[in-house]
Amino acid sequence: MIEEAKTEEPVKKTLLKGLTPKELKDFFAAVGEKRFRGDQLFEWVYGHMVENFDEMTTLPNYLRKKLNLYCELNSLSLVTTQTSPRSGTRKYLFKTFDNQLIESVIIPEPKRITLCISTQVGCPLDCQFCATGLMGYRRNLSPAEILDQFLLASKEFGRNKISNIVYMGMGEPLLNYANTFKSLQIFAEEKIRDISLKRVTVSTAGIAPKIIELADSGLKVKIAFSLHSMFEETRSKIMPINNKYSLAENLEAVKYYAKQTDTRITFEYIMLKDLNDRSDDLNALIKLCKSIPCKINVIPFNSIAHMNPTGFAKELEPSQKFVIDEFVKTLRDNNITVIVRYTQGDDIAAACGQLANKTISEPLAKAEVN
Ligand code: SAH
Repeated sequence: MIEEAKTEEPVKKTLLKGLTPKELKDFFAAVGEKRFRGDQLFEWVYGHMVENFDEMTTLPNYLRKKLNLYCELNSLSLVTTQTSPRSGTRKYLFKTFDNQLIESVIIPEPKRITLCISTQVGCPLDCQFCATGLMGYRRNLSPAEILDQFLLASKEFGRNKISNIVYMGMGEPLLNYANTFKSLQIFAEEKIRDISLKRVTVSTAGIAPKIIELADSGLKVKIAFSLHSMFEETRSKIMPINNKYSLAENLEAVKYYAKQTDTRITFEYIMLKDLNDRSDDLNALIKLCKSIPCKINVIPFNSIAHMNPTGFAKELEPSQKFVIDEFVKTLRDNNITVIVRYTQGDDIAAACGQLANKTISEPLAKAEVN
C-alpha cells in the first residue's frame, strides 16, 4: 500500500492586535479560556506594549504556548528611520507582512509630539498636490497595521512621549472607514493611557457620508477637512474626489459633525499660487468660518518634485510668502484662529503630502501599464 504523503497545512494564525477588549474576550471564550484573559492581553499589548506572548507573564505557561502556536501579534516591522537634522522630524519606514511599505512621521514641537499615521498603502484619490496620490493605490491597512505604527514608533521614540496622533499620512482614512474606526475605538480605550481621543485627529479629503457616519458613531475624535478651495470648480480640478462628493455636501457634513460632537473643525488650506490665494478665496473662507466653529491650518505647499509630476500637478506652485502673510493676517483680523503649519521635515520628504515610496511606486506603475 502506498502511503499518502502527509502535507502539513500551515496553521492560519489569528491576529490578536486590532481586536477591541470585547472582541478579545469573545475570542478567549470561543477557544475555551476565561474571558478576563482578553483584558489581560489588551493590557499587555497596549499598556505595556510587549511584542510577544512570552512576555505576558500574567498568562499561564500553557496559554502562552497555545497563543504562540495559533495566534500572532505583530503586523509590521520597522525597516528604517530617518531624522531631519533641521527640525528633528523623524520618518519611519515600515514593512507589512505582504511586503508593502508604508511611512509614519513624528513631528516634535515645543508643546506636543505628534505622530502622523497612514491608513492605506498609497492612495486612490489623485489629489494633484499630493505625492502619495501620484504613487497610486495598493490596499487598505488593517486595524493592526494602523495601531502598530503607533506602538512601534512609540517604543522606538520613547514611551509616553507621543501626545497627539493625526491620521494625515498616506491614504484617505474615510475610504478605509471600518479599519480606521476600529483603530479609533482602540485608541479610545482608557487602558491606552498615552493617548486620549481628544488629541487624535482624522484628516479627510471629504467623503461626506462617512463624515456623517463618524458623527453619529459617538466617538469624539477631531476632524480635519482638506478644504483647499472654496469653489467647486477649482476644488474639483485639484481634488477629483470633489466630483463625487461636492464641497457643498462636505460642508454640510462637517457642520453636522461639529454640532453632533461639539468639536471645532480644522480646515486645512494649502496655499497655491493664483489658485486659491486671491481675495475672492479669502472672502469666501471668512464667510465659511463665521458659519461654523473652526480653525484654519494654513499649509505652505510642499514640493512634490521628487515624484516627477506631470500635467496639471507639475504646474502647481506655492503662494509667495508675502501673500500667505497677508492672507493669514486678514483671517486673524476677522477673529479666525489660524495656525500656519510651517514645513517640517521636507529635507527628508516627510512633510505633508510628501509621503510616497519610490520602491513601491515603480512596480505599481508597471502593473498599471499591463
Ligand atoms: N487623505 C487625507 C489625509 C492625508 S493628506 C486628507 O486628504 O486629508 C494630509 C494633509 O496633507 C491634507 O490636508 C493634505 O491636503 C495635505 N497635503 C497633501 N499634499 C500636500 C503638499 N504637497 N503640501 C502640503 N500639504 C499637503
